Amino acid sequence: MINNEVRKSSSVVNNGHASTQLMKPHFVLVPLMAQGHMIPMVELAQLIAGRGGGVLVTLITTPLNATRLKTTMDRFNRSGLAIRLVSLPFPCKEAGLPEGCENIDVIASAALAVNFFKATSLMRQPLETYLREHKHYPSCIISDSCHPWTWDVARSLQIPRFTFFSICCFTLLCTHNIASHNVFDTITSEREPFLVPGLQDRIEVTQEQAPGFFYGDLWVKLREEIRAADKAAEGVVVNTFRELEPWYVENYQKAMGNKVWTLGPFSLCNKDVNHMTARGNDAAIDENKCMRWLDSMKPRTVVYVSFGSLTFTSPSQLMEVGLGLEASQQAFIWVIKEVELCREMTEWLGEAGGFEERVKTKGLIIRGWAPQMMILSHPAIGGFVTHCGWNSLMEAISMGLPVITWPHFADQFLNERFIVEVLRTGVPVGVDVPVTWGLETSHVYVTRDGVEKAMRSLMDGGEEGAQRRERARQVSVTAKKAMEQGGSSYENITMFMQQFSHHPPAAPPPAAV
Ligand code: UDP
Repeated sequence: MINNEVRKSSSVVNNGHASTQLMKPHFVLVPLMAQGHMIPMVELAQLIAGRGGGVLVTLITTPLNATRLKTTMDRFNRSGLAIRLVSLPFPCKEAGLPEGCENIDVIASAALAVNFFKATSLMRQPLETYLREHKHYPSCIISDSCHPWTWDVARSLQIPRFTFFSICCFTLLCTHNIASHNVFDTITSEREPFLVPGLQDRIEVTQEQAPGFFYGDLWVKLREEIRAADKAAEGVVVNTFRELEPWYVENYQKAMGNKVWTLGPFSLCNKDVNHMTARGNDAAIDENKCMRWLDSMKPRTVVYVSFGSLTFTSPSQLMEVGLGLEASQQAFIWVIKEVELCREMTEWLGEAGGFEERVKTKGLIIRGWAPQMMILSHPAIGGFVTHCGWNSLMEAISMGLPVITWPHFADQFLNERFIVEVLRTGVPVGVDVPVTWGLETSHVYVTRDGVEKAMRSLMDGGEEGAQRRERARQVSVTAKKAMEQGGSSYENITMFMQQFSHHPPAAPPPAAV
């Protein structure tokens, strides 16, 4: 499976002096610094290191992100997992970014995103130097697709590079087919619906809902670099499982001409409450308080409402969400981000507006980061209002939860189609027009009535609702089986790692002068 050229050169430079310990496989993981990319990569590290056998996993990050990962790393150390966190300096100044802009969730404007990606590409040389100097030479790099520069590092070190996606194969194939069939040349407006070509299902979207990754003039260079690096990759690692989307996995693999490794759902590696709680950032709510509140609710009666780590919702839209939740008379946990808690919003929730007091018997509001996996895994949770980030959807799938879909941008509209039209475990809230990330307005996309209607349909949808819930339950059984010994993802992880057990890491080839 490993590229012959790489293997040949590896064995040539392997002079046979490496000790047995140094010859164990060493996986280097390079996540993009955004929660929806880092969390699944950290879980992948856990899945690989969890197999033991002396393997080493190195996670590459930056100082600010290393601080955020401290609780998680302490947990890994206590569990004896061979996962090492390496923090490389992040060149904010050189890339024209304010100091500390090391994660997409702290970038203040869309314009600075270009600088952020420039800064990530400047990590190329420090990463190569680090890997050359470290005594345990890497077996391969598993790199976020958004880091095409890691291809240069892999080439220079003569090791394979795998592209990593926390996106389903359905969305990857739709995006690929829309581009390869030049669909945008055949439509007259970005709001004109078209059928995604070459699929087994009839999926309709518009250009503005599915523009492709890194769309627009600002991103031409990065888009091309990503395309070339993905094409040259040794394989693709995806946070999905084969039984969820067999046709899409097979056909994405054919379309890419590259092995697709389905190794998920990654989040199922978190077996106990402590592991589920320490993910991403530290939780903004006392976990015991949250648990006690959930314990006091009847099974499958609470709806969890969260729009991930990157969306920003205006106070006018948040108030409509709140009023819709209240009108639905369902119990709920509602996550409002710190950046959304302006004075107007704080007052509306608090004494002046009285919202929190009015809903106190049914609603719990989390101000800041929520322990999402811990909440979703609690038996009291019966549904999830989500922005359709793929990690959130995989977490809902794993926990057997039907969802209300409220996509905002990026891959989220295609993910919605998958959940609503292919898996049929979702109720769309009815959003057709995307939000522009970083340029959010106070426009109200969904009124309180829309929220209330979707909530009723999700939690009290008669026969149709019961069937939806049953489908969600069944798919979670399949998800859990995939991750158990003998399951498809479990066995894929074994095979993925075996590629390297017979071809131990070599000594570094000389650096280019
Ligand atoms: N998440 C969390 N608490 C929060 C918000 C998000 O634990 O308050 C986690 C969530 O469980 C998921 C990730 O952050 O694993 C968000 O990824 P997703 O793909 O759903 O959305 P994104 O944030 O990338 O848009």
